[in-house]
Amino acid sequence: MERIGVVLCSGCGIGEALDMEALRGVAEEAGATVLTHPCLCSEEGLAAIRSALDSGEADALVLAGCSPRAQRHLFRFDPEKTVVERLALREMVTWTHPPGDEDTQALAEDLVRMAVAKVEAGKLPVRLQEEIEDAVLVVGGGLAGMEAALAAAGMGHDVVLVEAADRLGGALAGPPVHLPLAPPYDRPQPSRIPGLVEEVKAAGKIHVATSSRIVRITGQPGQFHVTVRGPEGEVELDVGAIVQATGARPYDASRLGHLGYGAFPDVITARELDLMLAEGRLARPSDGKAPQRIAFVQCAGSRDPEHLPYCSGECCAVTMRQILQVSRDHPEVETCVLYRDIRTPGQLEHLYQAAQEGAGAFFLKACVNGVTGNGNGRLTVRFEDSLLPGVEAMEADLVVLAVGMVPNSADGEAIRELHDAQHRAEHGESEVQKEEAQKIAEQLAHHEGTEILNLDYRQGPDLPVLRYNFPDSHYICFPYETRRTGIYAAGAVRAPMDPAQAVEDAWGAALKAVQCIEAARRGEAVHPRSGDLGVPELFLQRCTQCKRCTEECPFGTLNEDVDGTPQLNPLRCRHCGICMGACPERIISFPDYSVDAVSRQIGAIEVPEEDEEKPRILAFLCENDAYPALDAAAQLRRTWNPWVRIIPVRCLGSVNIVWIADALSRGIDGIILIGCTYGEDYQCHYIRGSELANTRLGNVQETLDRLALESDRIRLVELAHDEFQRIPGILDEFAESIGELEPNPYKGF
Ligand code: SF4
Ligand code: SF4
Repeated sequence: MERIGVVLCSGCGIGEALDMEALRGVAEEAGATVLTHPCLCSEEGLAAIRSALDSGEADALVLAGCSPRAQRHLFRFDPEKTVVERLALREMVTWTHPPGDEDTQALAEDLVRMAVAKVEAGKLPVRLQEEIEDAVLVVGGGLAGMEAALAAAGMGHDVVLVEAADRLGGALAGPPVHLPLAPPYDRPQPSRIPGLVEEVKAAGKIHVATSSRIVRITGQPGQFHVTVRGPEGEVELDVGAIVQATGARPYDASRLGHLGYGAFPDVITARELDLMLAEGRLARPSDGKAPQRIAFVQCAGSRDPEHLPYCSGECCAVTMRQILQVSRDHPEVETCVLYRDIRTPGQLEHLYQAAQEGAGAFFLKACVNGVTGNGNGRLTVRFEDSLLPGVEAMEADLVVLAVGMVPNSADGEAIRELHDAQHRAEHGESEVQKEEAQKIAEQLAHHEGTEILNLDYRQGPDLPVLRYNFPDSHYICFPYETRRTGIYAAGAVRAPMDPAQAVEDAWGAALKAVQCIEAARRGEAVHPRSGDLGVPELFLQRCTQCKRCTEECPFGTLNEDVDGTPQLNPLRCRHCGICMGACPERIISFPDYSVDAVSRQIGAIEVPEEDEEKPRILAFLCENDAYPALDAAAQLRRTWNPWVRIIPVRCLGSVNIVWIADALSRGIDGIILIGCTYGEDYQCHYIRGSELANTRLGNVQETLDRLALESDRIRLVELAHDEFQRIPGILDEFAESIGELEPNPYKGF
């Protein structure tokens, strides 16, 4: 931008703490026109800003006053007409550093120079204006799928509901009763499935395709092109968003040999008991006799590192339901539950109480370690760590295993293998290698259950999964969202859950799908930078086809052409900037966030001479967690070292290594990157951003060696949003450690 205006607010004590005239001089020297106002958030202050914009004096503004996180509703301007940068003089300077101090003043002056440099490098974004499809595709016609379809149709969207089986209903289609979905929650309820199937058929806006599979999905949110193969052949359709509700299946009980499954016919699964009860009978498979005592073994395979390390979410409640059914229809049968913990969350506690009190079931906390025959036709259930001292076994006529659930997602390992094989097939060194990889790719491409969506994405045909194969993207902040924009997961495929949770999930995912269609129509980013306009621009004339961007984009936004040149699908993009951080050629940028803009901010920092003994420290703070944490610390008037210059970044993954080299060669003494926790329980909004930054920092060593600088000058710290008490100390401690080093010898260059 060319005409930069700086509006300095002297309210909230800023005017008393800083030399405002000097600050004005700094902004003018940087080429901006300057206005000082005693209270920018007042009616008069806002009118002054509007008049500066309307007069055409400025096409970009730095509003230097309170934090960009404060008074957001007041400081809203049309992003297509004006570049506005809010500079937190109050939080980052005057509330957190001593008033009237020369270091405090130097900090404020640097921040003003940096903000001017940033908006100078900025451009106005261009809003995407694309034809957007309104329809929603729902994959999976079980409880969650049908609920999601009804939810989307209820919001006025056409829905295509694709089910692989020959009828709707999914895993819950069999049993005539369910876990309760409505008060009083203390008894089984008639299955909701038959009614739901009728509702779906009557909905009008829902087109159901049973015995059908997705063969291919191309495109991007708002513009997905889907090929469905069904009994009538292939059908092509266009949809705006997708909900995957492919449910879960019981864990393979044949792997639970230690619990007697397979060896003794009277050891059955909860599902098998359901089938029996649905037929109105209760009999031992071995001899057809009615059991006198049934032992229910909880966590059969679940919460077991050898099988399913997670809790399967609904098995305890299913056992309670079955106990109530048995006690109602076969009151003479004794029921006993061997459990590690009973997990019946929410309203299902009422069901638990009913099983304990009404049905008179016997509950014993114990860890079952084996089921064997006792020689008299009965079974012996052995356990340890029982609450009844000295009791280590019990006899039963029927043992029911509460087997856990496995998501019907793509198999993460197989997907990765397929993807790698395809990549080697296309890019392998030798013909033999290529042929070999081609064979693997062909084999895996037909791997049953591997492909559900068959996405035509560079990063693989299905939703990437978290550990244990659940395809969620961020279990803390963004339920339903997956790592493929516009595709949402709902129900037991997303996480182990009971039917009530699956219904809630379906509505959540349908709402997300509709939101996504609407955001795409407005040309705006979806979560987490909701409303953001600028998509990445790639200056492909200088692209070396290194594939870093296509490989590192967490959301599969970039495909590749045959030469390996990235192809942007802008509506898939979440605007994180990770591709920008990855690109060694520095040819990826956003209108308001670019390698150049940050390099200019670094260049705007005044680095004191060596003999002044005032080190300069650059801090890259993730805008989602670390920066808000520092802002929260400022609200509490916590203080930190004034040598630190902060640059908020969209994600640590967007930090391009060139910024580190730039800063070091300008004489900056230390660089700290503060971002989200990474690893399995990552918190990064962009999945692997901080982890990627950490990996890239490994390569900075070369730069440090070349400049003969110590590696202690660079540090990456993981920090969560709520750790605001910690962050000032992190900055202070880093500043102290940098103060102990010799000054960066590149000062003055
Ligand atoms: S900005 Fe993020 S989501 Fe968009 S292409 Fe780059 S890495 Fe992918
Ligand atoms: S990272 Fe940069 S140079 Fe490499 S493929 Fe992507 S755009 Fe091209």
